Amino acid sequence: MNSTLVFGGTFDPVHRGHIESVCAVARLLGDVDVYLVPCQIPAHRPVPAASPEARLKMLQLAVANQDRIFVDDCELRREGTSYTVDTLLGYRQRVGESGRLLFLMGRDSWVTLSSWHRWEVLTDLAHLLILERPGTDQVSPGVLREWLKTRQVQDPQEMMNSSSGKVCFLSLDQIDVSASGLREAIAKGSSVEGNVNPLVMNYIRQHNLYTGASSENKMLGKRMEHE
Ligand code: ATP
Repeated sequence: MNSTLVFGGTFDPVHRGHIESVCAVARLLGDVDVYLVPCQIPAHRPVPAASPEARLKMLQLAVANQDRIFVDDCELRREGTSYTVDTLLGYRQRVGESGRLLFLMGRDSWVTLSSWHRWEVLTDLAHLLILERPGTDQVSPGVLREWLKTRQVQDPQEMMNSSSGKVCFLSLDQIDVSASGLREAIAKGSSVEGNVNPLVMNYIRQHNLYTGASSENKMLGKRMEHE
């Protein structure tokens, strides 16, 4: 049976840490379709610097040559705050009751999980895969450690004979890149070569994103809404 892997984020902008990580996880899982899901209004962080449309376009450019990696704008089409639980409910409907569904996140997201909307039901809908991330060695809060007791598995293969319900931490090659670091570098005029797909970098340049001229970015978003 194939798997469906969902990877949500702000992708502001999408970078090597996102794409290489998700490709490594896909290789590990084998037969898998990957969906990258940019959020509209993130629940736990400031509004992204680039418009939803620009973040969507950058994602599409970043995966243009990737087999079985798709960009899904479901959260951008939904009104209001983007809740992962709503996205996973949609995917559960798509893959059916017995379809294997996995949701991928970095450890920095994991440690905030207990503040997510209806977080306890996430494993009713999907397995959770947590990527270790450079600079993020926070221990899981007590409530999550307790929750893990009945859910954690050591090897993702242990998720392969069920459709949801397990949590697994993955120590793959860690990629020391963050979108906030890249936004800062771009604003300072420093090179981000190697960490951002060249097509994405062209888009960032063409649209003058992350230069600190945030009003221009917002105007771009407004213009694109009408395109
Ligand atoms: P920012 O620096 O603005 O917080 P980010 O680089 O964390 O952004 P997001 O789009 O917010 O990027 O991340 C989406 C998901 O990808 C999150 O679950 C995050 O933990 C994970 N992620 C991002 N970068 C990496 C990385 N280098 N390694 C592993 N996971 C990552």
